[in-house]
This record gives sequence, structure tokens and C-alpha cells, in this order.
Amino acid sequence: MSLAQCPVFIGGEWQNINSVPTSPVFNPSLGEVIAEAPMCTADHVNAAVDAAAEAFPAWWETPPTERARALFRFKMLLEENFEEIVQCNTREHGKTLVESRGDVRRGIEMIEFACGIPSLLMGESLENVARGIDCDTIRQPLGVCVGITPFNFPAMVPLWMYPVAIACGNTFVLKPSEKVPLTAIKIVKLLDQAGLPKGVLNIVHGGRECVDALLTHPKVKAVSFVGSTPIAKYIFEVGTRQGKRVQSNGGAKNFVFLMPDADVENSVRGLVEAAYGCAGERCMAGSTAVVIGDAAKTVLPALITAAKSIKVGRTDVEAQPNMGPVITGPHRDRVAQLIEAGAKEGAKIATDGRAVKVDGAPNGFFLGATILDEVREGMTVAKEEIFGPVLNVMRFEDLDSAIEIANRSPYGNGASIFTRSGKAAREFKHRIQCGMVGINIGVPASMAWFPFNGWNQSFFGDLHMQGKEGVQFFTQQKVTTTRWFSFGEGDIWHRESK
Ligand code: NAD
Repeated sequence: MSLAQCPVFIGGEWQNINSVPTSPVFNPSLGEVIAEAPMCTADHVNAAVDAAAEAFPAWWETPPTERARALFRFKMLLEENFEEIVQCNTREHGKTLVESRGDVRRGIEMIEFACGIPSLLMGESLENVARGIDCDTIRQPLGVCVGITPFNFPAMVPLWMYPVAIACGNTFVLKPSEKVPLTAIKIVKLLDQAGLPKGVLNIVHGGRECVDALLTHPKVKAVSFVGSTPIAKYIFEVGTRQGKRVQSNGGAKNFVFLMPDADVENSVRGLVEAAYGCAGERCMAGSTAVVIGDAAKTVLPALITAAKSIKVGRTDVEAQPNMGPVITGPHRDRVAQLIEAGAKEGAKIATDGRAVKVDGAPNGFFLGATILDEVREGMTVAKEEIFGPVLNVMRFEDLDSAIEIANRSPYGNGASIFTRSGKAAREFKHRIQCGMVGINIGVPASMAWFPFNGWNQSFFGDLHMQGKEGVQFFTQQKVTTTRWFSFGEGDIWHRESK
């Protein structure tokens, strides 16, 4: 089978780069290489940034209404090609088709949000800040902006960034994950088809060398990053030191509280989806079940039964499993080692997915749903982001001690509570130290119109992606204070000047 092409897109031209080392892109269901991503160098980055810089003045002068119309056309093309993108997403990432549909749909919602840019860009004004003096604000684009994205949402995460950035009048260079570049390419081809001027959006591929060249390029004004915490911190530190605006989303460890009064069926369904959706490879994965008091007797047994019934399998076929593979062989091995470390440090394996076998796919990167019970603070599995289908269970006597431990986590993306008590939910919402809270919701990931609101080591920066903060990030304000002394040539029309 021939490999899929993985071209760069620079100044409106799609080009295959043959002269550099490459990184394999797998179909994780089969463990087969389906493409090779070129590891672009500083020269490719310079060409992409130059193309974006050249396109910027004309794109900035394009009225926001026209920029929005290009995005409306883009959205329609995505709808028309929805299933094709979904298939591509599943093939290179391994998530189920249903999960891929969610990935693409969340991305489309970002375009829908960005289509409202004429209203979103409006400034404020105040007449008579002093006698005869008025003041107003306008929002202007920054120039060339950059997006660097992770493997786990090949469609959605790039779309968190560039639709809003270009709607605001910026031009953009995207560096998708070298593990899943094909979906990003497919989507940008549709944007190209929607009639975007050359150079407004560019794509390069690669790893650290490519990222460093983007991060330090003098013409780059802003960097939007999503990935693991160590890299997110690095991007923020290097980027801001270079005088760039940076928003940098990192990893997470998210707690799902189960109160003794939680509705068993709904909370088990919510938690199973939160822990094992996308094989646990989500920054909003509910990776720790916080079982309080008698929830250990009511909810926990049903949870273990539900985890045991999750069917793992190939996702690149019509008959879909409940859960697909993880992204690579080394990642599967790392997750398996963490399960082992958990057991060695005293956690009890309630169900173990390490021995799972999938018919017809002996080389796929599979792991079954795993539950580690009696996990305690300080264990490796409690500290590290596992990013696989592993659910930690921590048991507590009361809500207060559980909140105390959860709040000691260095991360701060999301936390949820399942309860029938409004008072407990209110207390939880008030005291939990993270940026996205769920009440009887397993995955409280905020949608396009609200900020994707990580705290602590889950986010470095000031303005989050999505919602109005996204627009603020990709624009700078100008405040104008205005006074006019006379009507000038118009004086003759003014009664008092005659
Ligand atoms: P990653 O940090 O390995 O890679 C992210 C990006 O950084 C990729 O484009 C990669 O090429 C680049 N990169 C990797 N190493 C680099 C280095 N040394 N220097 C410069 N650039 C480098 O992350 P991943 O494994 O692709 O994605 C999973 C991680 O992303 C998880 O930690 C997950 O929680 C996080 N994530 C966070 C959010 C959020 O919004 N907080 C959303 C999705 C994923």
C-alpha cells in the first residue's frame, strides 16, 4: 500500500519535502505506517513565516465581513466532506468513528464562532470623557501567528486556533503533531478551496527544530500551543522571553467525585465515558474517580463491571468497538509500565487491560480498560498524567478531605462531581481549584463560546483559547481620544460660526 502524502503548504503552494528526515504516521489499529511526516528545518519555517508576513497587509485590509464569508464557505465545505475527514482522523489517530465525529464537530463549532467576527471585533466608545472629547477602542490583528498542536485531537485543536486568528485579520503558520498531520492537511485543503488568499494560512511539519524556529522567529507575534505540561512550559518561557504573546495549554489529571447519593446509572455512564473515551487520551479525561463514603458500595462495583464490559478493537472498520487503540507502541508500553508501577506501590488492580488481544490486528497498539483501586497521593500513578485507558480510584471518608487532596494536584484543567445534593455541588464548585467544573457531567470541556479554561500547570498564559478570550489573544487594542477644535471648512454650515 502506498503511503499518504504529507505536504507542507507555503504561500498557497502544496509541496512535498523530500530532502529531510521523516517521522512515521501510523494507523494505530494495525500498527502500520501510513505516511511519513517531513521534519521541516528552519529554512522551511522561514519560508512559511515570510509567506504569512507578505500576506498580512492585504488580509488585514480585507473587511471582517469578507473574512467571515471565507469562513462560512470553509464551514460548508467541512460539512460536505465531514465523513471523509472523520475517516482520516480515525485512521491516523485510532479513536472510534463516533469520537472522531465529536472531534470534527467541536472544530466546526469554532469556525461557527469565528464567523461572528464582525460583532466580536467591535470596540467600545464613550462620548464626552471630558468636555468635547470622545474616546473609543478598536481591536487590530497582531500579524503572523503560530499554532503548535498535539496528537490527541487532530481536527479540533488546530481549529481552536486558526479560524479565530485569521478572522481577526492575522496570518498563520500551523505545525500540527507529526503523529497525526493528515487530518490537519485535509482540513486546510478545504480552507484553500474556500478561496483564502495565498499565504494567509501555511502548514509546516516537524518536531523540536521546527518548533524552535517558529518560537524564535522575529516576525512571529503570537504563539498558541497545546501539548504536555513540560513542553507547554518551555514554549511559554521561550516565547515570552522573545517578546511574543503566548497561550500554552498543558497536561492534566482530572478528578471525578462520586458522592454516596450519586445516581448510580448516570454517574457510571458519565465516568466510563470520561475515563475511557478516546482511550483516555484526552486532557479532560476523568482519570481519577474520587469515591466518597458509601459510594464505594453503591457506585464502585457497577463501575468495575462497566469497565470490564468495554470492547476494544480496530476502529478503521465498519463494525465499531467501544474503545480503540492508543497512539503508538511506545505509548502503550509506557502506560503498561505505569500500571505495573501502580501495583508495585500498593494500588489494587481491579481490572487489568494489559493482556488484551484483538482478532486480526496483532500489531495494533491496544490496551483494555484498567482500574487501579486504593490509589493514594504520592504514588507515581497519582502524580503522572497517564494518558491512557487507566482509571485511578481514590477512596475518602468525606468531601472535605477529598477536595483537600484534589487541590494539591499541580494541574487544574477539570473536575466533576456526581451528586443529588445541591449543597454538596455548590461547595465543590466553590472550593475546587481548577478552571472547568462539571456537575453531573463527566467531561466538563467547555465549548467554542466559552474559554477552554485550564489553571495551574494545565495552562501558561493570560488569555485562553476559545470564546472572547481567543479574540482578545489574537488582537491588540487601540484606544483613540479625539477632540475637534472647529468645523474647518464646514464652519459656514454652523449657525454659531457665521
Ligand atoms: P507533546 O507535548 O508531546 O507535543 C505537542 C506538540 O509539541 C507537538 O506538535 C510536538 O511536535 C511538539 N513537541 C514535542 N516535543 C517538543 C520539544 N521538545 N520541543 C518543542 N516542541 C515539541 O504532546 P502530545 O503527546 O502530542 O499530546 C498529549 C498532551 O497534550 C497531553 O499531555 C495532553 O494533556 C495535552 N493536551 C492538552 C490540552 C489542553 O487544552 N490543556 C488539549 C489536548 C492535549
